[in-house]
Amino acid sequence: MSERIVIFGGTFDPIHHGHLIAARAVAEQFGFEKITFMPTMVPPHKSDASPPAPAADRLEMVRLAVADSGIFDVSDIELQRGGPSYTFETLVALRRRYGPEAELYWIIGADMLAELPTWRRAGDVVEMARIITAARPPHSRRTVSTTIESLRAHFTIEQVERINAGVVETPLIDISSTRIRRRLIEGKSVRYLTPESVVDYIRKQDLYASK
Ligand code: ATP
Repeated sequence: MSERIVIFGGTFDPIHHGHLIAARAVAEQFGFEKITFMPTMVPPHKSDASPPAPAADRLEMVRLAVADSGIFDVSDIELQRGGPSYTFETLVALRRRYGPEAELYWIIGADMLAELPTWRRAGDVVEMARIITAARPPHSRRTVSTTIESLRAHFTIEQVERINAGVVETPLIDISSTRIRRRLIEGKSVRYLTPESVVDYIRKQDLYASK
């Protein structure tokens, strides 16, 4: 079987159990042996008023969260590249590194699906990688079909079919990085929302504290 390169991109500001549980469910359903978490430079469309944690801290929190998982690892190629993290460019780099035979997969949460047409060279992205869409509250596998319909204006019939085939049922875990940051600003505990090692790191580095 050709090599399968599976990427889960995100700002991971910070990583949380929603990410980890969704990735594990995707791995189980597709039989992936490895999923690589890839922190991105923070995209301009992120509207939260608070500045993101430094890239080095976001990367370190992902490292801590996936340590000992046996199935997850982390890549810093988008952070190393700097500038806006265009998935298209990352896929070109992965194709160059792993060769023409490798199968590329790109995991997104269901909330990202509607944004797909705005991605740079979105049509090429869909051709180059198999997009896997994980359910995420309030979007279940069932409710995603409306979004899929809206994609028809932007992609070919074959591309929409390809995207649709990659929508998977995952446990609906209602955790977001925004909620974690908000709780920290309010001085509330984030225990159980993200792994203990990440909770400890946030505390030691004094990340997301209210100013
Ligand atoms: P923020 O609240 O800052 O927007 P986030 O929780 O959405 O952050 P990201 O790092 O932006 O986290 O997400 C990376 C990817 O993980 C995105 O594709 C997002 O849709 C997906 N994702 C995030 N949280 C979940 C979750 N609870 N279940 C499934 N997918 C998720």
